Amino acid sequence: MSHPVLTALGLQAVESGTYLGNGEWSKTSDAGVLEPVNPTTGEVLGRVQASSKADYDTIVERAQAAFKVWRTTPAPRRGEAIRLCADALRAHKDALGSLVALEMGKSKPEGDGEVQEMIDIGEFAVGLSRQLYGLTMHSERPGHRMYEQWHPIGLVGIISAFNFPVAVWAWNSFVAAVCGDISIWKPSPKTPLSAIASMKICNEALRKGGFPDIFFLFNDAGSELAQQFVDDKRIPLISFTGSTKVGRMVGENVARRMGRSLLELGGNNAIIVDETADLKLAIPAIAFGAVGTAGQRCTTTRRLIVHESVYDDVLAKLIAAYKQVEGKIGDPTDPKNLMGPLNSKDGVDAYLDAIAKAKAAGGKVETGGEAIDRPGNFVLPAIVTGLKNTDEIVQHETFAPILYVMKYTDLADAIDMQNAVPQGLSSSIFTTNLKRAEAFLSAAGSDCGIANVNIGTSGAEIGGAFGGEKETGGGRESGSDAWKAYMRRQTNTINYSDALPLAQGIKFDL
Ligand code: NAD
Repeated sequence: MSHPVLTALGLQAVESGTYLGNGEWSKTSDAGVLEPVNPTTGEVLGRVQASSKADYDTIVERAQAAFKVWRTTPAPRRGEAIRLCADALRAHKDALGSLVALEMGKSKPEGDGEVQEMIDIGEFAVGLSRQLYGLTMHSERPGHRMYEQWHPIGLVGIISAFNFPVAVWAWNSFVAAVCGDISIWKPSPKTPLSAIASMKICNEALRKGGFPDIFFLFNDAGSELAQQFVDDKRIPLISFTGSTKVGRMVGENVARRMGRSLLELGGNNAIIVDETADLKLAIPAIAFGAVGTAGQRCTTTRRLIVHESVYDDVLAKLIAAYKQVEGKIGDPTDPKNLMGPLNSKDGVDAYLDAIAKAKAAGGKVETGGEAIDRPGNFVLPAIVTGLKNTDEIVQHETFAPILYVMKYTDLADAIDMQNAVPQGLSSSIFTTNLKRAEAFLSAAGSDCGIANVNIGTSGAEIGGAFGGEKETGGGRESGSDAWKAYMRRQTNTINYSDALPLAQGIKFDL
């Protein structure tokens, strides 16, 4: 019997994990099976037939054929297709949000929020479809015109992580679609059902609207097909979201074949709280940043750097907030719960291992630090004090709700601490002092791709470019001009004179 959340979306107990195009889902049944587990109970939620090598080749061939048509479809018309997808997602927001909560383990409001992000990026992409601007330049030669235009890049490969099982696909594929590209998605093996449901919702909307296939899907039982995908010269752009460990390999392999990669990797995000901070804002922001999604966001707050004069007060208030959260840990599909389980048993092991390492390095666990004795992958969110920023465990992204709280005296030192980690994704400062806020945002301030004032590190809006520096991979997705990653730039010079002057005044008289 299927879980009611799956039934509401028309998903069967056994699903194909391969969308081949032409309304056809693969019938392959000998390429392995994925069994996503309900992290709340430990039960298998459903079975997904993995894709074969032949499925993969069919997808790439059909995607190549689809690109030949889609690349010359006017961009505003491509926007119409994405408008239909956004409308369909709006109609299914509650059901898909529940599935994300069920399969990934994030709270129902966060699951709904993730679907809202898909809708938001869809609307952004519709607007973008009437923009995609290039520049016009002044030629140094008389009777010449020079400009640049942006053409679709081709096939876009999307490899996504378990923690944002649907939004990351929409950030990439919706923007890629208005740019004129065809996308092929390989989701996380931990969340294939959310991927299949999203694909069904959007592809049905496209078919009803008379649009061709622009989105394809495959699921890999191991990592063989995914590696082939990364190495496939027919795919000029691989957009990878996941750990720095796998992302480094993906980036290196794509670079070797001179492809383009867009890397969205791990974070180790800090909040600085100075002595003028408004704690009514800071405490809930820190708690949401550290505990939301059970610490499984790339932008999760993992380090807190507090001015010594307010340190004791901040720590006491934060511990009190954590005690409140502890009363609201449970089934994520129940909207009253603030925190669900970790997605996997491996996640629980990583959490317990990090707590043990933190203690061994001299850390004090102020609250939490244990798994909860109940079915599923539940842990208590932890606050750890007494460690230095340079301690190995503090330098490392543990994908779980562990917050390391440290003290500082001078802001310059706090900013140095915030920057002194291998990752560079998100950061923030809580202050009411304008000079300090601006210093934090200045060229000598935070080195992260995201730097905020008086809001936390997580919960970015789609309008800005999202991503980070250093081992976070350098990619940018979503808003601003992130669309340029999905297009190729062409510079055009047109001579409308009767002469042939060469640039730089070079003479070549025949
Ligand atoms: P992961 O690296 O284990 O897996 C990510 C994806 O890579 C999955 O689809 C997986 O199947 C695939 N993969 C695994 N081996 C592969 C291979 N050899 N070749 C190609 N693909 C392969 O990451 P995860 O545990 O799913 O996600 C958590 C990580 O993702 C965290 O580090 C988190 O910070 C990061 N993340 C980053 C962002 C961001 O935007 N910066 C967003 C979400 C998650």
